[in-house]
Amino acid sequence: MTKTIKLLVLLLITSIALNAQNTVIKAGHVFDAKTGKMLDNQIILIQDGKIKEVGTNLKYSENDTFIDLSDSWILPGLMDCHVHVTTNVTYRIMDIYKKYATESNGLRAIRGSVVAKQFLDNGFTTIKDIGNDGNYATADVIKAIKYGWTEGPTIIYSGKIIAPYGGQTYGINLENEHFWDFEYIDADTPDEIIKAIRKNIYYGATTIKMVTGDNGIYNSEDIQAAVDEAKKYNIKVTVHAIGGLGATNVILGNAAAIEHGFELNNEQLQLMKDKGIYLVGTDFAYDNWYAYGMDEKTSQLATNMIVDRLQRAYKIGTPMAFGTDIIIDLPELNRVQSGLKVLENWKAAGIPASYILQTMTLYAADLLGIEKERGVLEPSYYADIIAVKQNPLLDIDNIKTVHFVMKEGKVIRKD
Ligand SMILES: [Zn+2]
Repeated sequence: MTKTIKLLVLLLITSIALNAQNTVIKAGHVFDAKTGKMLDNQIILIQDGKIKEVGTNLKYSENDTFIDLSDSWILPGLMDCHVHVTTNVTYRIMDIYKKYATESNGLRAIRGSVVAKQFLDNGFTTIKDIGNDGNYATADVIKAIKYGWTEGPTIIYSGKIIAPYGGQTYGINLENEHFWDFEYIDADTPDEIIKAIRKNIYYGATTIKMVTGDNGIYNSEDIQAAVDEAKKYNIKVTVHAIGGLGATNVILGNAAAIEHGFELNNEQLQLMKDKGIYLVGTDFAYDNWYAYGMDEKTSQLATNMIVDRLQRAYKIGTPMAFGTDIIIDLPELNRVQSGLKVLENWKAAGIPASYILQTMTLYAADLLGIEKERGVLEPSYYADIIAVKQNPLLDIDNIKTVHFVMKEGKVIRKD
């Protein structure tokens, strides 16, 4: 062999050896999302961004990068299935139209990248961002994360919200008709819905979000047309519906999920269970309602309604995936901390912490269509891994003690 070839071979061997280097996490307790239980004293081996092995007696080499989390509780990265990273409404001032009119798409994208990072730093390694993002501002946030300009979670993204004429605006004068085009696509027939879906996909959508019952109600045929169109591209349709006929049509039209569903009755919740349709409950706590400018009494009534609906859905067995839908930061709290207020309602409804964690991992991944990639800590899954300081099965609020975040094998936070 010539000297050059020898050198090349040496370089090749060295690089193979480097690539083969694992990261090893020594884990005190690991949450098994499938059983809802903690496994003690586990070793997690990570290679090339994915989990290679998990077990008690795994061998690892001295060259591996070693992370000691033996005093922590390790969970799959959490997921929030209802987020709007680029939107912000002022505390107790419902100034959303003003924000639509005065905040440029660029400004919205910058906010989105900041909020996306807050999610990642607080343990949410996947979020579903479903519209109200100006002219596809979230698509730019996703690109910035992909280019490595900023760090953020995996974002399942809807593009613009598809809705009957008027979107979610009310009382706009005719002189300002289509003011809402900045946030919504008007679609009143199956043909218009199909066109809107294709437009969203062109601009980066990986899920479809519709709104029904705010301005106009979709028929089940409208929803089914959307589901059929989205299916061609292997993506799902999720629909904002509060209750009543609008929600029934969403269920009969076979959408993947209902967002909010505050007024769903037991028959509807049962039908969702029978059809495997998820509820993303966006279960606002008292402080979240109050943030919208409601008085104390109305905030309490709204909170009671949520706790009741959560209890009924859990009892009936409606599939649930965790979602917060917070667009108002509470005083002194960031977006994620404001969102985690909803846990007050889950606790008030008596829902076990293990189940809540499953709605944030296993079930969320199933709804988002990423159940073969994320949501559990098993071989071949992405190494989206977080650690908390106290046992979240004893109190779900302990997920607020995140001190370690790994995204696809890369350490984002370790303190
Ligand atoms: Zn929302």
